[in-house]
Amino acid sequence: MNRTLTTVAALILFSNSACHGQRYDNVDTDSETCCASDSATTSDSATASDEDAPGLTPPYNIILVGWDGVQRDHFMACFKSTLADCPDGLPAIASLSGGRIFDIVVTTAATETKPGWVENLTGYDDAALSVLSDSVFGPIPAGYSIFEKAEHHFGDANIATIFLAGKQANLGADCTTTPAQPWCEVAPKLDLFENGIGDTPEVGKRALEVLSEYKDQKFLAFVHFPQPDLRGHANGENSPQYSEGLVEADQWLARINDRLIELNIAKQTLIYVISDHGFDEDAKTHHDAPFTVLASNDDTIVRNGDRKDVAPTVLKKLGVSLGEMDGVPAVDGRPLDSLQGGRVVEDAN
Ligand SMILES: [Zn+2]
Repeated sequence: MNRTLTTVAALILFSNSACHGQRYDNVDTDSETCCASDSATTSDSATASDEDAPGLTPPYNIILVGWDGVQRDHFMACFKSTLADCPDGLPAIASLSGGRIFDIVVTTAATETKPGWVENLTGYDDAALSVLSDSVFGPIPAGYSIFEKAEHHFGDANIATIFLAGKQANLGADCTTTPAQPWCEVAPKLDLFENGIGDTPEVGKRALEVLSEYKDQKFLAFVHFPQPDLRGHANGENSPQYSEGLVEADQWLARINDRLIELNIAKQTLIYVISDHGFDEDAKTHHDAPFTVLASNDDTIVRNGDRKDVAPTVLKKLGVSLGEMDGVPAVDGRPLDSLQGGRVVEDAN
């Protein structure tokens, strides 16, 4: 449970059906909205149930916060303050997740950046996609990304799809290269696609600007921070710099959460902190690094999972089909709010 989010002041919920289908907007009194005269539920009647509610309020905005190259063991040591580099742990992660950290394992495609973010943001494995590694890749086929599926489900005008990436080539959308970069066909369909933004502070500042810009729309956003990966490559996984990459990303997670509270949209915004791959132990590489983590304020998550389980979890939260749609096959991943194979069969012994 998200202790920070539950401190949000009482909400004023507006029924906004005349604008963009069904949604809730938290509207401050002096902001311009197209539906200010619509029926409103005042804070008096909303407060009691809000304070008692364990989770967030649908319909949801979604922010996928990507931390590049998070090794599970290092993350957990930092989170639990057992490393001298992390005396305060990762307080924003703790606040977001209530301490529920899930294991994510990579089982298909390379433990590299290109396939990592593609699997996270599509839910397909390397049998369905042509993105196998940072060096063997092609464009994601049309219609496979969570962004396109959300646009298709809600209608282009009814959800803002946002992609902000610190790195460039490995989250690239250049169609003129041979082969074309993975996000070539997806990027033009999004409301906002920006890559090559820079290091953690530049990405964080841009994310805060964009949240303010899109606060009155339902949104599905991916915000990619290039750390701790780059510091791991430069200094090694067991370096203080790698830990600093985690701590700095955590500080920006706190600022994002603070901005959501300021904008009165924290109560309906789900945040998933995810990664593309782990990091080789005590090395400057991630050749064989399948172990990473997930932290979220989505309190319906019940199990550890696979890198490609993130996308179906998000799609299900948004009410978007996981099945075959317009020639695009069903996703390969499984939503994390249910057990993978039904009940657990006990060992005969
Ligand atoms: Zn890397």
